Amino acid sequence: MQQHYHIWTIGCQMNKVESERLGSLLEERGYLPAATAEKADIIVVNGCVVRQSAENRIVNKLDALKPLKKANPGLTLAVTGCLVNSNTSQLREQFPHVDHFFKPGEQPDWLRKATDQPEALPRHPQPAVYVTIIRGCDNFCSYCIVPYRRGREKSRPMSEIVSEVRELVRRGAREVTLLGQNVDSYGHDLPGKPDLADLLTELNGSQGLARLRFLTNHPKDMSAKLIAAIARLDKVCRQINLPVQSGNNDILQSMKRGYTSEHYRNLIAGIRNKIPGVALSTDVIVGFPAESREQFQDTFNLLAEVRFDTVHVAAYSPRPGTLAARELKDDISATEKKRRLHLVEQLQEGIASEINRRLLGETVEVLVEGRNKGKWQGRTGSDKLVFFSDSANHQGQLVNIRIEKTSPWSLQGKIEPA
Ligand code: SF4
Repeated sequence: MQQHYHIWTIGCQMNKVESERLGSLLEERGYLPAATAEKADIIVVNGCVVRQSAENRIVNKLDALKPLKKANPGLTLAVTGCLVNSNTSQLREQFPHVDHFFKPGEQPDWLRKATDQPEALPRHPQPAVYVTIIRGCDNFCSYCIVPYRRGREKSRPMSEIVSEVRELVRRGAREVTLLGQNVDSYGHDLPGKPDLADLLTELNGSQGLARLRFLTNHPKDMSAKLIAAIARLDKVCRQINLPVQSGNNDILQSMKRGYTSEHYRNLIAGIRNKIPGVALSTDVIVGFPAESREQFQDTFNLLAEVRFDTVHVAAYSPRPGTLAARELKDDISATEKKRRLHLVEQLQEGIASEINRRLLGETVEVLVEGRNKGKWQGRTGSDKLVFFSDSANHQGQLVNIRIEKTSPWSLQGKIEPA
């Protein structure tokens, strides 16, 4: 009888790409995807514990799967993602109905088909795909659980990444986002120490590939060589994610980020000077331990001054095992964290609507990624979400869209004749 799998994923892009690859591995073994957990023979829960709210969602999910496992003891239930550390005995005690725990990025033997393939690739990839280039992180920012769960940095050999990208393009992908917790560290542990600029230069020559992106940069490590490569290479999107986390130097030091707000501002000025029109996004944490109202104001002022295209804001949530959770008191009330979060969201909504409004009447190039609520959906090179209606099939195509309506979060328009 045909066997099915179901993968439930929350968290960052890294989790999403790892789930996609686990799905490909299972398909190589003859499994088919199941739309719901009830129809599956193997269920993988791939969760995130970067914030308490995410961890709660995994616990709820695993509790909800208990009756299913009880009714069907032959069902295989596995858990991966940053919840899983090296010592799984506590997890086994807490979730006795789970058959396997494995660390993020691992592909355990029970799941693999005997194959020499370093990575299982989707047979029919989406137009825009993700490729991991470096795993783990050596930075140990004081609030972050990732280095404890994903381990130290390990770069994938350049030749392996290049052949994987070429194969994905051969199978139909048009845009590739290179992923790493800190892509600016790429290659320091490889022979000859190639870096991200070298990798982008090599990939820029890939036939059939339309666009290249990369996530996530670290302000202390982003090099002038990389900025020059982005400016020079025609397939590399003019779009950079550069998490600042705070605009106050004492908080940055307490976060162990390794740069000052002055360094960050200079870096942004340098990027804008070399790459005119670049789209910038950032991440911010509000309510970090001991963050005063004045220190929060420094973050707010930096966001108002830089005017990012996108800001991802989160309220601080202590993660057991991190330096901040061990040594700093989570002393900002939930109400105050919410107030600061709301202030950032309000500010950003105004900035993003102004930035997007400038695109009214302009024609933008969009890579069509699929359908959503009866419309075609895709992204510009600057990562703006665009919707348009048309009866023809545009899946995976690059099309020109004339923008007729804008909001802080997306654009709408009409397709222009090719
Ligand atoms: S750079 Fe800092 S925030 Fe990012 S994954 Fe590494 S430790 Fe976490």
